[in-house]
Amino acid sequence: MKAGDVVQYRTGSQQLMKDWNLSLLANLIRKNPKISRAELTALTNLSPTTVSSLVAELIDDGLVRETGVRDSQSGRKPILLEFVPEGRIGIGVSINHDGIKVALVNLLGEPLYIFEGRASLEHEKAVLAQVEQGIEECIAHAKEQNLQDRIYGIGIGVLGLVEGTKSRYLLGNTWHSIDLAPIVEKHPKFYFSIENDINAMALGEVWFGQGKEAKHLLYVYLGYGLGVGVIIDGKLYRGAFGSAGELGHVSVSHGDFKCRCGLTGCLGVIADGAHVMLRIKRAIEEGTSTSISPDNLTFESFLDAAKTGDPFCNELLDELISNLSRAIISAVNLFDPGLVIIGGFFSDPKHPASSRLISTIQNNSLASYRDDFRILASNFGDNSGVIGAAAAVLKNVFDLQLTQEQIS
Ligand SMILES: [Zn+2]
Repeated sequence: MKAGDVVQYRTGSQQLMKDWNLSLLANLIRKNPKISRAELTALTNLSPTTVSSLVAELIDDGLVRETGVRDSQSGRKPILLEFVPEGRIGIGVSINHDGIKVALVNLLGEPLYIFEGRASLEHEKAVLAQVEQGIEECIAHAKEQNLQDRIYGIGIGVLGLVEGTKSRYLLGNTWHSIDLAPIVEKHPKFYFSIENDINAMALGEVWFGQGKEAKHLLYVYLGYGLGVGVIIDGKLYRGAFGSAGELGHVSVSHGDFKCRCGLTGCLGVIADGAHVMLRIKRAIEEGTSTSISPDNLTFESFLDAAKTGDPFCNELLDELISNLSRAIISAVNLFDPGLVIIGGFFSDPKHPASSRLISTIQNNSLASYRDDFRILASNFGDNSGVIGAAAAVLKNVFDLQLTQEQIS
Protein backbone atom coordinates (compact mmCIF):
# COMPACT_ATOMS: atom_id res chain seq x y z
CA MET A 1 0.00 0.00 0.00
CA LYS A 2 1.42 3.38 -0.98
CA ALA A 3 0.10 6.84 -0.15
CA GLY A 4 -3.20 7.43 -1.91
CA ASP A 5 -4.04 3.80 -2.52
CA VAL A 6 -7.52 2.92 -1.47
CA VAL A 7 -7.33 -0.57 -0.14
CA GLN A 8 -10.38 -2.74 -0.46
CA TYR A 9 -10.95 -4.92 2.55
CA ARG A 10 -14.70 -4.99 2.17
CA THR A 11 -16.33 -7.86 0.35
CA GLY A 12 -19.91 -8.48 -0.62
CA SER A 13 -22.19 -6.34 1.48
CA GLN A 14 -22.14 -3.15 -0.52
CA GLN A 15 -22.54 -2.93 -4.23
CA LEU A 16 -19.70 -1.18 -5.96
CA MET A 17 -20.03 0.91 -9.06
CA LYS A 18 -17.96 -1.29 -11.26
CA ASP A 19 -19.23 0.23 -14.40
CA TRP A 20 -17.67 3.37 -15.79
CA ASN A 21 -21.09 4.52 -16.98
CA LEU A 22 -22.48 4.27 -13.48
CA SER A 23 -19.65 6.51 -12.23
CA LEU A 24 -20.30 8.92 -15.09
CA LEU A 25 -24.02 9.23 -14.35
CA ALA A 26 -23.50 9.45 -10.58
CA ASN A 27 -21.05 12.33 -11.13
CA LEU A 28 -23.39 14.12 -13.54
CA ILE A 29 -26.27 13.89 -11.06
CA ARG A 30 -23.96 15.07 -8.25
CA LYS A 31 -22.84 18.08 -10.23
CA ASN A 32 -26.27 18.91 -11.74
CA PRO A 33 -28.95 18.85 -9.06
CA LYS A 34 -32.48 18.25 -10.40
CA ILE A 35 -31.57 16.70 -13.68
CA SER A 36 -33.87 14.46 -15.71
CA ARG A 37 -33.14 11.13 -17.37
CA ALA A 38 -33.62 12.77 -20.79
CA GLU A 39 -31.01 15.41 -19.91
CA LEU A 40 -28.61 12.69 -18.79
CA THR A 41 -29.14 10.97 -22.12
CA ALA A 42 -28.40 14.23 -23.96
CA LEU A 43 -25.22 14.82 -21.92
CA THR A 44 -23.85 11.33 -22.58
CA ASN A 45 -23.72 9.04 -25.55
CA LEU A 46 -25.85 6.49 -23.73
CA SER A 47 -29.24 5.29 -24.95
CA PRO A 48 -32.38 6.23 -22.99
CA THR A 49 -32.82 2.56 -22.02
CA THR A 50 -29.26 2.34 -20.67
CA VAL A 51 -29.67 5.60 -18.73
CA SER A 52 -32.96 4.36 -17.21
CA SER A 53 -31.46 1.06 -16.16
CA LEU A 54 -28.32 2.62 -14.68
CA VAL A 55 -30.34 5.28 -12.84
CA ALA A 56 -32.49 2.47 -11.40
CA GLU A 57 -29.28 0.85 -10.12
CA LEU A 58 -28.12 4.12 -8.54
CA ILE A 59 -31.51 4.55 -6.86
CA ASP A 60 -31.39 0.94 -5.58
CA ASP A 61 -27.90 1.61 -4.28
CA GLY A 62 -29.14 4.63 -2.29
CA LEU A 63 -26.96 7.17 -4.11
CA VAL A 64 -29.70 8.87 -6.13
CA ARG A 65 -33.37 9.65 -5.52
CA GLU A 66 -36.28 11.10 -7.47
CA THR A 67 -37.31 14.57 -6.40
CA GLY A 68 -40.57 15.74 -7.97
CA VAL A 69 -41.26 16.75 -11.53
CA ARG A 70 -40.42 19.77 -13.65
CA ASP A 71 -43.29 21.90 -14.89
CA SER A 72 -43.68 21.40 -18.57
CA GLN A 73 -46.11 23.07 -20.98
CA SER A 74 -46.62 20.00 -23.07
CA GLY A 75 -46.21 16.27 -22.88
CA ARG A 76 -45.05 14.27 -19.89
CA LYS A 77 -43.50 16.18 -17.03
CA PRO A 78 -39.92 14.93 -16.57
CA ILE A 79 -39.06 13.35 -13.22
CA LEU A 80 -36.06 15.05 -11.64
CA LEU A 81 -33.17 13.26 -9.99
CA GLU A 82 -30.92 14.34 -7.18
CA PHE A 83 -27.98 13.00 -5.35
CA VAL A 84 -28.37 11.60 -1.79
CA PRO A 85 -25.72 13.29 0.40
CA GLU A 86 -25.79 10.43 2.89
CA GLY A 87 -25.81 7.78 0.14
CA ARG A 88 -22.31 6.99 1.34
CA ILE A 89 -20.46 8.51 4.27
CA GLY A 90 -16.80 8.44 5.12
CA ILE A 91 -14.84 8.75 8.32
CA GLY A 92 -12.10 11.35 7.99
CA VAL A 93 -9.17 11.26 10.41
CA SER A 94 -6.72 14.15 10.68
CA ILE A 95 -3.46 13.77 12.62
CA ASN A 96 -1.16 16.81 12.57
CA HIS A 97 0.23 19.75 14.54
CA ASP A 98 -3.30 21.09 15.02
CA GLY A 99 -4.28 17.95 16.98
CA ILE A 100 -6.32 14.85 16.28
CA LYS A 101 -9.71 15.11 14.71
CA VAL A 102 -12.10 12.43 13.47
CA ALA A 103 -15.33 13.22 11.64
CA LEU A 104 -18.18 11.51 9.91
CA VAL A 105 -18.49 13.23 6.51
CA ASN A 106 -21.19 12.92 3.85
CA LEU A 107 -20.84 13.08 0.07
CA LEU A 108 -21.18 16.86 0.08
CA GLY A 109 -18.16 17.12 2.36
CA GLU A 110 -20.30 18.11 5.35
CA PRO A 111 -19.18 16.87 8.78
CA LEU A 112 -22.08 15.10 10.55
CA TYR A 113 -20.19 14.40 13.76
CA ILE A 114 -16.77 15.56 15.00
CA PHE A 115 -14.44 14.11 17.63
CA GLU A 116 -11.41 16.10 18.81
CA GLY A 117 -8.37 14.84 20.71
CA ARG A 118 -5.16 16.40 21.95
CA ALA A 119 -2.72 13.45 22.25
CA SER A 120 0.90 14.44 21.74
CA LEU A 121 2.34 13.45 18.38
CA GLU A 122 5.37 12.10 20.27
CA HIS A 123 3.28 9.27 21.71
CA GLU A 124 2.18 6.82 19.06
CA LYS A 125 0.01 4.68 21.36
CA ALA A 126 -1.91 7.68 22.70
CA VAL A 127 -2.50 8.97 19.16
CA LEU A 128 -3.77 5.57 17.99
CA ALA A 129 -6.06 5.29 21.04
CA GLN A 130 -7.62 8.69 20.36
CA VAL A 131 -8.04 7.96 16.65
CA GLU A 132 -9.78 4.68 17.51
CA GLN A 133 -12.02 6.45 20.04
CA GLY A 134 -12.98 8.98 17.39
CA ILE A 135 -13.75 6.26 14.85
CA GLU A 136 -15.91 4.37 17.36
CA GLU A 137 -17.81 7.57 18.22
CA CYS A 138 -18.40 8.25 14.52
CA ILE A 139 -19.69 4.70 13.97
CA ALA A 140 -21.96 5.05 17.02
CA HIS A 141 -23.32 8.34 15.66
CA ALA A 142 -23.95 6.72 12.26
CA LYS A 143 -25.88 3.93 14.03
CA GLU A 144 -28.02 6.48 15.89
CA GLN A 145 -28.88 8.04 12.54
CA ASN A 146 -29.48 4.63 10.97
CA LEU A 147 -26.61 5.26 8.56
CA GLN A 148 -24.24 2.49 9.63
CA ASP A 149 -24.67 0.60 6.33
CA ARG A 150 -23.72 3.77 4.45
CA ILE A 151 -20.19 3.99 5.86
CA TYR A 152 -17.91 3.48 2.88
CA GLY A 153 -14.46 3.78 4.36
CA ILE A 154 -11.93 5.57 6.51
CA GLY A 155 -9.54 8.18 5.14
CA ILE A 156 -6.57 9.18 7.25
CA GLY A 157 -4.64 12.38 6.63
CA VAL A 158 -1.42 12.34 8.61
CA LEU A 159 1.51 14.73 8.74
CA GLY A 160 4.89 13.73 7.37
CA LEU A 161 6.12 11.29 4.78
CA VAL A 162 3.58 8.54 4.24
CA GLU A 163 4.70 5.10 3.14
CA GLY A 164 2.06 2.40 3.31
CA THR A 165 0.41 2.58 6.71
CA LYS A 166 3.40 4.40 8.23
CA SER A 167 4.20 8.07 8.49
CA ARG A 168 7.51 9.61 9.54
CA TYR A 169 7.72 13.16 10.77
CA LEU A 170 10.07 15.52 12.52
CA LEU A 171 9.17 17.11 15.84
CA GLY A 172 11.88 19.57 16.78
CA ASN A 173 15.02 17.78 15.67
CA THR A 174 13.76 14.27 16.37
CA TRP A 175 12.18 11.90 13.89
CA HIS A 176 9.02 10.17 15.06
CA SER A 177 6.84 7.64 13.32
CA ILE A 178 3.37 6.29 13.56
CA ASP A 179 2.09 3.03 12.11
CA LEU A 180 -1.63 3.11 11.41
CA ALA A 181 -1.83 -0.62 10.65
CA PRO A 182 -3.66 -1.41 13.96
CA ILE A 183 -6.48 0.95 12.90
CA VAL A 184 -6.72 -0.65 9.46
CA GLU A 185 -6.74 -4.16 10.95
CA LYS A 186 -9.47 -3.25 13.42
CA HIS A 187 -11.89 -2.30 10.65
CA PRO A 188 -11.72 -4.98 7.97
CA LYS A 189 -15.11 -4.04 6.53
CA PHE A 190 -14.00 -0.61 5.34
CA TYR A 191 -11.98 0.82 2.49
CA PHE A 192 -8.94 2.73 3.68
CA SER A 193 -6.90 5.62 2.33
CA ILE A 194 -3.80 6.94 4.09
CA GLU A 195 -2.45 10.19 2.72
CA ASN A 196 -0.24 13.10 3.72
CA ASP A 197 -2.52 15.56 5.54
CA ILE A 198 -2.01 18.52 3.22
CA ASN A 199 -2.36 16.38 0.10
CA ALA A 200 -5.65 15.11 1.54
CA MET A 201 -6.79 18.72 2.16
CA ALA A 202 -6.08 19.49 -1.52
CA LEU A 203 -8.26 16.52 -2.53
CA GLY A 204 -10.96 17.81 -0.18
CA GLU A 205 -11.00 21.11 -2.07
CA VAL A 206 -11.18 19.32 -5.43
CA TRP A 207 -14.09 17.10 -4.43
CA PHE A 208 -16.07 19.21 -1.99
CA GLY A 209 -14.66 22.71 -1.81
CA GLN A 210 -13.43 25.70 -3.76
CA GLY A 211 -11.51 23.54 -6.23
CA LYS A 212 -14.41 21.71 -7.85
CA GLU A 213 -13.81 21.47 -11.59
CA ALA A 214 -10.25 22.82 -11.29
CA LYS A 215 -7.66 20.83 -13.23
CA HIS A 216 -4.57 22.61 -11.96
CA LEU A 217 -4.51 23.97 -8.46
CA LEU A 218 -2.25 24.65 -5.54
CA TYR A 219 -3.69 24.19 -2.08
CA VAL A 220 -1.57 26.19 0.36
CA TYR A 221 -1.88 25.30 4.02
CA LEU A 222 -0.60 27.87 6.49
CA GLY A 223 -0.97 26.59 10.02
CA TYR A 224 1.31 25.29 12.75
CA GLY A 225 2.92 23.46 9.82
CA LEU A 226 3.22 24.74 6.22
CA GLY A 227 2.71 22.87 2.99
CA VAL A 228 1.30 22.81 -0.51
CA GLY A 229 -0.91 20.17 -2.11
CA VAL A 230 -0.30 20.12 -5.86
CA ILE A 231 -3.06 19.05 -8.26
CA ILE A 232 -1.92 18.66 -11.86
CA ASP A 233 -4.31 17.55 -14.59
CA GLY A 234 -6.87 16.71 -11.92
CA LYS A 235 -4.51 14.39 -10.06
CA LEU A 236 -2.51 14.77 -6.93
CA TYR A 237 1.23 15.17 -7.57
CA ARG A 238 3.30 13.54 -4.83
CA GLY A 239 6.76 13.63 -6.40
CA ALA A 240 9.29 10.82 -6.68
CA PHE A 241 9.68 10.33 -2.91
CA GLY A 242 6.28 11.51 -1.69
CA SER A 243 7.48 14.86 -0.41
CA ALA A 244 6.30 17.25 -3.12
CA GLY A 245 4.88 20.49 -1.76
CA GLU A 246 7.23 21.00 1.20
CA LEU A 247 6.67 24.74 1.26
CA GLY A 248 8.21 24.99 4.72
CA HIS A 249 11.65 24.16 3.27
CA VAL A 250 11.60 26.76 0.52
CA SER A 251 14.45 29.13 1.27
CA VAL A 252 13.32 32.74 1.54
CA SER A 253 15.94 34.42 3.67
CA HIS A 254 19.63 34.63 4.42
CA GLY A 255 18.76 34.79 8.11
CA ASP A 256 20.42 33.03 10.99
CA PHE A 257 17.56 30.68 11.69
CA LYS A 258 18.79 27.17 11.05
CA CYS A 259 16.20 24.68 9.88
CA ARG A 260 16.12 21.02 10.96
CA CYS A 261 16.74 20.11 7.30
CA GLY A 262 20.22 21.66 7.66
CA LEU A 263 19.67 24.84 5.63
CA THR A 264 19.16 28.34 6.92
CA GLY A 265 16.38 30.65 5.86
CA CYS A 266 13.68 28.00 5.31
CA LEU A 267 10.17 29.47 5.29
CA GLY A 268 8.95 27.09 8.01
CA VAL A 269 11.50 28.34 10.51
CA ILE A 270 10.46 31.92 9.89
CA ALA A 271 6.76 31.70 9.19
CA ASP A 272 4.98 28.57 10.39
CA GLY A 273 2.54 29.07 13.23
CA ALA A 274 4.68 27.30 15.82
CA HIS A 275 7.70 29.52 15.13
CA VAL A 276 5.63 32.69 15.08
CA MET A 277 4.26 31.77 18.52
CA LEU A 278 7.82 31.15 19.73
CA ARG A 279 9.00 34.54 18.46
CA ILE A 280 6.12 36.36 20.16
CA LYS A 281 6.79 34.50 23.41
CA ARG A 282 10.48 35.43 23.32
CA ALA A 283 9.70 39.06 22.50
CA ILE A 284 7.30 39.30 25.46
CA GLU A 285 9.92 37.74 27.74
CA GLU A 286 12.43 40.30 26.50
CA GLY A 287 10.03 43.10 27.47
CA THR A 288 8.65 44.08 24.05
CA SER A 289 5.50 46.12 24.43
CA THR A 290 2.45 44.42 22.93
CA SER A 291 -1.26 44.07 23.70
CA ILE A 292 -1.11 40.33 23.20
CA SER A 293 -1.27 38.32 26.42
CA PRO A 294 1.16 35.44 26.94
CA ASP A 295 -1.75 33.56 28.59
CA ASN A 296 -3.80 33.74 25.42
CA LEU A 297 -1.11 33.20 22.83
CA THR A 298 -2.65 31.73 19.69
CA PHE A 299 -2.20 32.57 16.04
CA GLU A 300 -5.75 33.94 15.98
CA SER A 301 -5.02 36.28 18.91
CA PHE A 302 -1.85 37.45 17.12
CA LEU A 303 -3.83 38.25 13.92
CA ASP A 304 -6.50 40.02 15.97
CA ALA A 305 -3.88 42.11 17.80
CA ALA A 306 -2.44 43.15 14.43
CA LYS A 307 -5.95 44.04 13.26
CA THR A 308 -6.46 46.38 16.22
CA GLY A 309 -3.20 48.20 15.47
CA ASP A 310 -0.67 46.59 17.87
CA PRO A 311 2.64 47.92 16.44
CA PHE A 312 4.74 44.83 17.31
CA CYS A 313 2.17 42.40 15.88
CA ASN A 314 1.72 44.60 12.80
CA GLU A 315 5.44 44.60 12.10
CA LEU A 316 5.66 40.84 12.56
CA LEU A 317 2.62 40.34 10.32
CA ASP A 318 4.20 42.51 7.59
CA GLU A 319 7.30 40.34 7.69
CA LEU A 320 5.21 37.17 7.71
CA ILE A 321 3.10 38.18 4.73
CA SER A 322 6.21 39.24 2.83
CA ASN A 323 7.92 35.87 3.39
CA LEU A 324 4.82 33.72 2.85
CA SER A 325 3.81 35.55 -0.31
CA ARG A 326 7.33 35.30 -1.79
CA ALA A 327 7.33 31.54 -1.36
CA ILE A 328 3.77 31.12 -2.62
CA ILE A 329 4.42 33.39 -5.63
CA SER A 330 7.46 31.25 -6.49
CA ALA A 331 5.30 28.11 -6.33
CA VAL A 332 2.62 29.77 -8.49
CA ASN A 333 5.23 30.82 -11.05
CA LEU A 334 6.69 27.31 -11.11
CA PHE A 335 3.42 25.39 -11.48
CA ASP A 336 1.14 27.86 -13.29
CA PRO A 337 -2.06 26.75 -11.56
CA GLY A 338 -5.31 28.44 -12.57
CA LEU A 339 -6.39 28.40 -8.95
CA VAL A 340 -4.73 28.79 -5.57
CA ILE A 341 -6.66 27.94 -2.41
CA ILE A 342 -5.44 29.22 0.94
CA GLY A 343 -6.28 27.09 3.97
CA GLY A 344 -5.38 27.37 7.64
CA PHE A 345 -4.81 30.60 9.56
CA PHE A 346 -5.29 32.91 6.58
CA SER A 347 -8.52 31.38 5.32
CA ASP A 348 -10.95 33.93 6.73
CA PRO A 349 -11.52 36.17 3.70
CA LYS A 350 -13.02 38.88 5.94
CA HIS A 351 -9.84 39.19 7.99
CA PRO A 352 -7.58 41.97 6.64
CA ALA A 353 -4.50 39.72 7.01
CA SER A 354 -6.06 37.14 4.65
CA SER A 355 -7.07 39.70 2.05
CA ARG A 356 -3.61 41.31 2.20
CA LEU A 357 -1.88 37.96 1.66
CA ILE A 358 -4.23 37.06 -1.18
CA SER A 359 -3.90 40.41 -2.95
CA THR A 360 -0.08 40.35 -2.60
CA ILE A 361 0.06 36.96 -4.32
CA GLN A 362 -2.59 37.95 -6.86
CA ASN A 363 -0.78 41.14 -7.87
CA ASN A 364 2.75 39.79 -8.05
CA SER A 365 2.41 36.40 -9.73
CA LEU A 366 3.19 36.00 -13.40
CA ALA A 367 -0.45 34.95 -13.87
CA SER A 368 -1.70 38.27 -12.45
CA TYR A 369 -2.55 39.54 -15.92
CA ARG A 370 -5.01 36.67 -16.40
CA ASP A 371 -8.60 37.52 -15.51
CA ASP A 372 -9.29 33.84 -14.84
CA PHE A 373 -6.41 33.33 -12.39
CA ARG A 374 -8.02 33.04 -8.96
CA ILE A 375 -6.87 32.88 -5.35
CA LEU A 376 -9.56 31.84 -2.91
CA ALA A 377 -9.76 31.16 0.78
CA SER A 378 -10.87 27.67 1.79
CA ASN A 379 -14.41 27.40 3.17
CA PHE A 380 -13.58 24.49 5.44
CA GLY A 381 -12.16 26.44 8.39
CA ASP A 382 -10.85 24.13 11.10
CA ASN A 383 -12.29 21.07 9.37
CA SER A 384 -10.09 21.01 6.26
CA GLY A 385 -8.10 18.05 7.64
CA VAL A 386 -11.05 15.74 8.27
CA ILE A 387 -12.98 16.78 5.17
CA GLY A 388 -9.86 16.20 3.06
CA ALA A 389 -9.12 12.83 4.64
CA ALA A 390 -12.72 11.72 4.05
CA ALA A 391 -12.55 12.99 0.44
CA ALA A 392 -9.45 10.88 -0.19
CA VAL A 393 -11.51 7.75 0.39
CA LEU A 394 -15.00 8.94 -0.69
CA LYS A 395 -13.79 10.11 -4.11
CA ASN A 396 -13.54 6.45 -5.01
CA VAL A 397 -17.33 6.13 -4.81
CA PHE A 398 -17.31 8.16 -8.03
CA ASP A 399 -13.96 7.22 -9.37
CA LEU A 400 -13.93 3.48 -9.14
CA GLN A 401 -11.88 2.96 -12.26
CA LEU A 402 -9.00 4.60 -10.39
CA THR A 403 -9.41 2.29 -7.43
CA GLN A 404 -9.20 -0.70 -9.70
CA GLU A 405 -5.95 0.51 -11.16
CA GLN A 406 -4.68 1.49 -7.70
CA ILE A 407 -3.71 4.96 -8.83
CA SER A 408 -4.84 8.40 -7.87
ZN1 LIG B 1 14.34 23.39 5.94
